[in-house]
Amino acid sequence: MEKIKMQTPLVEMDGDEMTRILWQMIKEELLFPYIDLNTEYYDLGLKHRDDTDDQVTIDAAEATKKYGVAVKCATITPNKARMEEYSLKKMYKSPNGTIRALLDGTVFRAPIIVKGIEPCVRSWKKPITLARHAYGDIYKNTEFYIDKPGKVELVYTSSDGEEKRALVQEFKAPGVAMGMHNMEASIESFARSCFNYALDTKQDVWFGAKDTISKTYDSRFKEVFSHIYEAEFKGKFKDAGLTYFYSLIDDVVARVMKAEGGFIWACKNYDGDVMSDMVSSAFGSLAMMTSVLVSPHGYYEYEAAHGTVQRHYYRHLEGKETSTNSVATIFAWTGALRKRGELDGNRELVSFADTLEEATLTTIESGKMTKDLALITSLQEAVVLNSREFILAVKVSLDGLLN
Ligand code: NAP
Ligand code: MG
Repeated sequence: MEKIKMQTPLVEMDGDEMTRILWQMIKEELLFPYIDLNTEYYDLGLKHRDDTDDQVTIDAAEATKKYGVAVKCATITPNKARMEEYSLKKMYKSPNGTIRALLDGTVFRAPIIVKGIEPCVRSWKKPITLARHAYGDIYKNTEFYIDKPGKVELVYTSSDGEEKRALVQEFKAPGVAMGMHNMEASIESFARSCFNYALDTKQDVWFGAKDTISKTYDSRFKEVFSHIYEAEFKGKFKDAGLTYFYSLIDDVVARVMKAEGGFIWACKNYDGDVMSDMVSSAFGSLAMMTSVLVSPHGYYEYEAAHGTVQRHYYRHLEGKETSTNSVATIFAWTGALRKRGELDGNRELVSFADTLEEATLTTIESGKMTKDLALITSLQEAVVLNSREFILAVKVSLDGLLN
């Protein structure tokens, strides 16, 4: 078979630990033999981030703006222990945070559905894609512990000296208080990302907030979504046979539990944090969750939702066998290759991405899987494979489908 050509490079961001090992295996076994892989490579491994004072992360984000599509391996977010482990010059920020700040995007997470791994919620038949607003609210708050009687006020002073003042609470005894904010532009780009992604993936959008209680703050989210939908998307949604639906967050939660899935659930920052963990664990496993950052300017960055699987990596370094699930990392590659193919009109590339996904799923459905899935599968006879054996089993399925 002649290798598939790629017109435009894909931005490739390598990462850390066990996922870096899987990354190499996936390229060697599942990509190089079939594709003339055209990537612009950035090494976001912690050592190289440190060597470049984290400039490599910025360069990788800039390259994503240039080419439009990136695929990223999981990376270590340094903490105190990592500072010592890698003798770092400083405690760099999370690469995902740096990239998100430069691309201004929304993160969409969707479970990979496969026969044999059933969701705990019986009504869920199709994936639920969670769209999390990734700016502001309690993640950028200011808060106090109040230790004696007094009053807390919210004060706004405009740059031309106008003042607004409101009483938060008159404290007669100890308590707590908090101030938080969001930006109209960020809410707008969140809304646009959700609607664009919905058109892209042909799914409805559900959005929930608490506007009956928060009559200004949450109401603004509702209004911005509604305004952007009416002004920019209503016609396109109608043509695509899609709907946008707003309700109170508690009503949305109740409906989600009874729904079949197959829609995008847009969540404010905190709701998205909490609900994405609920949705991913209810669908089976973090190792079966894809994640894509979509910017309002049309840039895409694909990755697995899980981290670098540190515990498995330490076993690997000791020369012990690992059974680490590579499915979400394989799907990060297929997501990026498919998008690259779509943008370039490269049908062979799109079709290869589809086939590789199908090969991965049929491998699991035939009972061959990594340990994390074997523990939860409803299939009677699961064979537990190690990290490499699983990738090789996918290759066998892939060759079968391609021939
Ligand atoms: P993690 O890498 O997601 O792993 C947590 C646990 O979940 C693992 O120990 C493993 O459980 C299970 N697991 C996750 N992915 C798996 C897979 N593919 N196959 C099998 N089991 C899997 O989270 P972490 O250990 O808390 O974090 C490790 C590093 O990843 C940290 O340095 C963190 O900063 C980084 N991180 C990066 C990203 C990112 O780049 N997007 C996201 C999150 C975390 P068992 O050990 O029980 O088998
Ligand atoms: Mg969380």
